[in-house]
Amino acid sequence: MLTLRNLGKTYANDVRALEGFSLTVAPGEIVAVIGGSGCGKSTLLRLISGLDNASRGSVELNGDVVRQPHPLINLIFQEPRLLPWLTVANNVGFGLAEIEGEDRRQQIELALKKVGLADLAQRWPKELSGGQAQRVAIARALVTQPEVLLLDEPFSALDAFTRADLQDHLLGIWDETRPTLLLVTHDIDEALVLADRVIVMRPWPGRILDEIKVDLPRKR
Ligand code: ADP
Ligand code: ADP
Repeated sequence: MLTLRNLGKTYANDVRALEGFSLTVAPGEIVAVIGGSGCGKSTLLRLISGLDNASRGSVELNGDVVRQPHPLINLIFQEPRLLPWLTVANNVGFGLAEIEGEDRRQQIELALKKVGLADLAQRWPKELSGGQAQRVAIARALVTQPEVLLLDEPFSALDAFTRADLQDHLLGIWDETRPTLLLVTHDIDEALVLADRVIVMRPWPGRILDEIKVDLPRKR
């Protein structure tokens, strides 16, 4: 259970990026957060991921306060952010620092299979298409079997065909282990197709404007 209590963030320049943001996300739930540019969506994900600290309020995972990057919470960005000097396999294995040998090989292979890229394990990032690179980023986020996956505009940089393909893929992956997904997007269609609930934000300061329960037939 992911619980955000009255989360607030004021940056050093006095910009109030987030204010009074409270939300509870059940295990396995898919929640989309939408809103225009600058309304605090990325800030929200940075706080939840522990990459940055809240000025007010708290982030809790199963009752434990999250203050720094947490092994059960992983983040996927708009750009894949693969390390160019590592092969696809070693990019996926990057988060498996303490796991070595056969275990490591198997976990990497399984994560790559989940995104349908088992054949590309030995490629270099520069040899991948945009969609393939983003799949590798998803595999890297999955390899540690997180409870919560945070996705920051994960498909916005992709063409419509690739985007639809990856949305399908994401739902397939989600269905296997049902992690909690928190998806930031400015694409209302994507939010409605993927999410159980859509949180609408408004800016200055970033806060919740409304919440929509999605009751549409799912692809899933
Ligand atoms: P969104 O992801 O919805 O576009 P952000 O969370 O990136 O919104 O930004 C929210 C507000 O906080 C914006 O006004 C932005 O300019 C400001 N902001 C974001 N990051 C920083 C930072 N590191 N320092 C100062 N202001 C920031
Ligand atoms: P690892 O340490 O995981 O084995 P390496 O960086 O040594 O990874 O590369 C492993 C594989 O990547 C090699 O089998 C090689 O065939 C393949 N490889 C290396 N360079 C290239 C390249 N420029 N294009 C395609 N494949 C490459």
